[in-house]
Amino acid sequence: MGRYERVLLKLSGEILAGSGGFGLDLEAVTNICSEIAEVAREGIQVAMVVGGGNIMRGQQAVQKGMERSQADNMGMLATVINALALQDSLERMGISTRVQTAIEMRQVAEPFIRRRAIRHLEKGRIVIFAAGTGSPYFSTDTAAALRASEIGASCLMKATKVDGIYDDDPHKNPNAKRLPFVSYHDALTMGLKVMDAAAFALCQENQIPIVVFDVLKKGNLRALLVDGSPVGSLVS
Ligand code: UDP
Repeated sequence: MGRYERVLLKLSGEILAGSGGFGLDLEAVTNICSEIAEVAREGIQVAMVVGGGNIMRGQQAVQKGMERSQADNMGMLATVINALALQDSLERMGISTRVQTAIEMRQVAEPFIRRRAIRHLEKGRIVIFAAGTGSPYFSTDTAAALRASEIGASCLMKATKVDGIYDDDPHKNPNAKRLPFVSYHDALTMGLKVMDAAAFALCQENQIPIVVFDVLKKGNLRALLVDGSPVGSLVS
């Protein structure tokens, strides 16, 4: 399998949010989907894990007194809403897709079945994994690392609003330096906050490189996956 023949793209809910950082902005959904459709048309097998932070973040509700599992279940359901929005947009672009959920809801999507997901990918369908891991106390970053491992993805592409990993917060420190290559060990010990520790541990253990890149910059996804350009930061 080529370097980026099959990838797992992690999209946070934030990327799909409206200007207020909340809810779904259908224009943002369309923009991102047209970038994804482009690489799918080039024959790259694309699986996605989508977050739900634009609708519900478990931890925030817990801080206001909600019971953790209840809040997290709500968070996982939020990811399903985002997944359906992505599916709708991609299908209107003529791309065949399947949504698979880690919490069964057969009327709206397939349940997660690993072998079936792989079959879909082989047939050129984009598979959107929703409802995270299906368990509270986890994040969709961890779900992304888990699904990437399960489907044998050659890379986990972490889509963000910044063009890689910096040694400090680039919004606060103008001298912050972008790090094009980072080891798993450094990413964890330097506290670079790329993903949570559980997600990292899975990637490291299964030797899945992580690319952190700016998905809002037009053409970036294509540059990375089709042209093989050194975009963003690589953790390996
Ligand atoms: N969540 C969960 N288990 C999972 C994945 C997600 O309980 O395996 C819940 C958790 O409450 C989380 C919410 O779903 O806050 C939304 O996911 P996340 O915060 O990872 O989304 P993102 O930040 O990527 O938008």
